[in-house]
Amino acid sequence: MDCKSCNKEDCPSKNQRPDERLEDFLERQELAKRMCKIKHKILVMSGKGGVGKSTVAVNMAVALSREGYNVGLLDVDIHGPSIPTMLNLKDVKMMQSDAGVLPVKVGPHLKVISIAFFLEHPEQAVIWRGPMKMGVIKQFLKDVDWGDLDYLIIDSPPGTGDEPLSVVQLIEDIDGGVMVTTPQEVAASDVRRSVTFCEKINLPVLGVVENMSGFRCPDCGKVTDIFSSGGGRKLAEDMKVPFLGKVPIDPAVVQAGDEGTPFVNAYGGTDTAREFNEIIQPIIDLETEKRT
Ligand code: ADP
Repeated sequence: MDCKSCNKEDCPSKNQRPDERLEDFLERQELAKRMCKIKHKILVMSGKGGVGKSTVAVNMAVALSREGYNVGLLDVDIHGPSIPTMLNLKDVKMMQSDAGVLPVKVGPHLKVISIAFFLEHPEQAVIWRGPMKMGVIKQFLKDVDWGDLDYLIIDSPPGTGDEPLSVVQLIEDIDGGVMVTTPQEVAASDVRRSVTFCEKINLPVLGVVENMSGFRCPDCGKVTDIFSSGGGRKLAEDMKVPFLGKVPIDPAVVQAGDEGTPFVNAYGGTDTAREFNEIIQPIIDLETEKRT
């Protein structure tokens, strides 16, 4: 639909802002037109690296697509894109249509774009300053032909840097952020800082996921709390944000990630897959609430 014929009067992209150049306004409208076709946009964040943020983002996206929702997964982790490895999309060639860059299809309901698809060499180091990062993220949102989606899941680099900030500035109707943490990280201040960051930039925190919460024995399936667990729930209570659930350390998660098969696909019937599926329930509720 064209912005001119749209009757959504409260849309911030309807009118040019007083201090906005015409070309910036038209670009903002182009981006809004793409985003208009996506019902929910969710940013997956963490206080620091290695806590399983990308693993959670991939499995959330795949779990939602398995429920029949049309899902986009956007990897804006410019310095360490890991989604192509996790989905075995290492040698993809990007295609373009008149409507824009075509995202890579993974199954009938999932479309993926990663910065890694645009690098000449996978190991290429990317040295970009803030405005360049903002520029490339803008292209991913504006120039990719995402089509009609129920969810766009965005995997951002850890911390409170340019990438999550750009995403929030560019997507005017973003639903919110999902914060991934580990029991150890809860003790550190990084994750609290990330929640405060969300408050500052007016990004609702949809909830906290406690990943690597205990260890699930591959033989007996029993979970042992090798570090203290439950910190994620406590943190969520303290910071007055929802708790989405916890996932233990499961050796099969590492194996699935390394093999490029999403865990919830390869190990669908397991307890750990059930835990991943519980996390997406409040995200599914966003859509159900919208419909009712
Ligand atoms: P981040 O995006 O936070 O840097 P990743 O998602 O890349 O973290 O995960 C880091 C490593 O931890 C990967 O090898 C991944 O397979 C592993 N991992 C993540 N979550 C789990 C889990 N619940 N159980 C076991 N290994 C996990």
